[in-house]
Amino acid sequence: MKRYTKRTIDRRMINEAARHHDFHTVKSLGQNFIIDEGVIEAIAEGAAIGQSDLVIEIGPGMGVLTAAAAARAGRIVAVEIDQRLLPILEQTLAGFDNVRVVCQDILKTDLKSLIREEQAADPSLAGVKIIGNLPYYITTPIIMKLLTEELPLESITIMMQREVAERIRSGAGSRTYGVLSLSVQYYCEVKSVVRVPKEAFRPRPKVDSEVLRLRLRREKPVQVRDEATFFGCIRAGFRARRKTLANCLTGFCGASKEEASAIMISVGIDPGRRAETLDMEEFARLADAFEKRK
Ligand code: SAM
Repeated sequence: MKRYTKRTIDRRMINEAARHHDFHTVKSLGQNFIIDEGVIEAIAEGAAIGQSDLVIEIGPGMGVLTAAAAARAGRIVAVEIDQRLLPILEQTLAGFDNVRVVCQDILKTDLKSLIREEQAADPSLAGVKIIGNLPYYITTPIIMKLLTEELPLESITIMMQREVAERIRSGAGSRTYGVLSLSVQYYCEVKSVVRVPKEAFRPRPKVDSEVLRLRLRREKPVQVRDEATFFGCIRAGFRARRKTLANCLTGFCGASKEEASAIMISVGIDPGRRAETLDMEEFARLADAFEKRK
């Protein structure tokens, strides 16, 4: 992981563009813009962007990270919901001919078609990488969209609230381990790129942040009979953190408490344990046993 060292960026052009267009940030859109050069570089370098990459940026804001990525990438498509930022982006990204800004809600964007279109227009774009300083109010829905839409992604390098990053990187036994940790780790290898303090943003958010790099796995870490049952089992297991698995899994796949306990015992898992003590392999075994019973 990189160490954070303060390096404030030269914001003259951005400030000028914002003033010119009378732009003021909106809290409800999670508009906390990066003002630190080192953080921008850490994301762009952490994403390992190269000339043959198609980069999709989530929420370009005023284009600071976009410009750093555009200088390294073959092509970049930046998806921004706030149309007030479009004239500013036009100004700050004027020097790049490999950037397209799409004014849309990322949660409603058809990323599969967007990637297909871009790769058809330029077949030399081999790798697809996601970057972004995410709007924190929708971090989890964005991550789950990226992981579950079967997109041809190589990696996702994103800034998020540190508490969410901790949940993503946690392992069994940790207080922050849960559905999000298991879901992300099933699809990706997780690496922390840099921890970022509040001071690196304008306006300052209330929380510290962290950049994670999620590399999409070619092969999943566990093989399961049915992914829906696997994730259903995880969600049911964590339904109430303080309750035992026997209690949490009662009703899962229609099993009574006795049946759920018997299934757990049949795969060597004590029904008195709590979900946070089970690793991914144990959840896979448990989910397969419930699936077999269906
Ligand atoms: N990348 C810029 C930076 O780091 O300085 C801005 C990051 S700011 C934390 C989040 C950006 O995401 C804002 O520009 C905001 O308008 C945009 N945004 C918020 N909700 C969005 C959504 N649903 N879809 C696309 N962009 C969104």
